[in-house]
Amino acid sequence: MSTIKLLDQHTINKIAAGEVVERPASVVKELVENSIDAKSSAITVEIKEGGIQFIRITDNGLGINKGDITTAFLRHSTSKIKSIEDLFTVSSLGFRGEALASIASVSQVEVISKTREEITGVRYVIQGGNEISKDEIGCPEGTTIIVRNLFFNTPARRKFLKSPGTEAGHISDLLNRLSLSHPHISFKYIYNNQVKLHTSGNNQIKDVIFNIYGKDIAKNIIPINYKTEEVEITGFIGKPQISRSNRNYESTYINGRYIKSTLIQKALEEGYKTYLPMHKYPFCVLHYKIESSRIDVNVHPTKMEIRFNNSEELFQLTKKVIIDGLRQIELIPEITLDK
Ligand code: ADP
Ligand code: MG
Repeated sequence: MSTIKLLDQHTINKIAAGEVVERPASVVKELVENSIDAKSSAITVEIKEGGIQFIRITDNGLGINKGDITTAFLRHSTSKIKSIEDLFTVSSLGFRGEALASIASVSQVEVISKTREEITGVRYVIQGGNEISKDEIGCPEGTTIIVRNLFFNTPARRKFLKSPGTEAGHISDLLNRLSLSHPHISFKYIYNNQVKLHTSGNNQIKDVIFNIYGKDIAKNIIPINYKTEEVEITGFIGKPQISRSNRNYESTYINGRYIKSTLIQKALEEGYKTYLPMHKYPFCVLHYKIESSRIDVNVHPTKMEIRFNNSEELFQLTKKVIIDGLRQIELIPEITLDK
């Protein structure tokens, strides 16, 4: 008698969901990244009870074709890459085609979407991976996705969730990072009916920093603007007086993707060495633009780590940019705010 069996698709999706969907913030991350990839200029995120009960993401992006809606929820279905070669030039935040299938397998999902080309849109409901309904409806261009009752069918996973307040904190951190990396998009975050963050989408990182961290930080930052043929580094670094006791205020992005790189952390530390005491960490928002063939984003599904093919150069550049930036302190005593 054979004892080895291929798992059914539902079970495969639920297992895969463990990789992609750890908590409400991971759902928000995947969905907002989809909205960004769909070229939205305004994204609204609405959460209730830490996102465990209710998450709604509304965007004004490209939308999903009626004919594609079922496919979008299949595992490994994506419009973003076609072959392995595309991985080396991929500029979208997603590409694995796993998120929608994973999220739908562990929650109750409702999607309303319309593309520009179509006259009517589609409303699609899927719960625990089972299609409930698919209807034609009138709706604006773009996509709204509602995720209810996360982990309703995987109680063991639900048990690991923290309090709504803690889960909401993760979502808030995430949206801060996403709005800092996409200053050209207007983000609105509503928690339990209260607007917590609203960025203008005017493409000014400085304004987003002001929105998130307030005046005292926004007044004490130094602009960074550095460009070589291979790498572009832009953003802001904090003056030493706004240093922090943890690394939460170091935000680094590569080609629009938030990353945590020990290499860059170390380079920051070296750059600030003569300015900061031990166990103090700088404030910074740094955007790196690097030709995508020189990095490898295909490291882990959550993609916070990244591999560079010339790390030493990146290390030295970062350090130099920081040192040069800090030297300007005497020259620009205070940034003027138009607010
Ligand atoms: P991936 O983002 O890796 O392609 P997902 O499972 O997250 O995989 O999404 C599957 C597909 O559904 C995407 O490739 C995209 O074509 C479509 N899609 C998902 N969300 C949106 C959205 N907000 N707007 C337009 N298309 C979307
Ligand atoms: Mg995606």
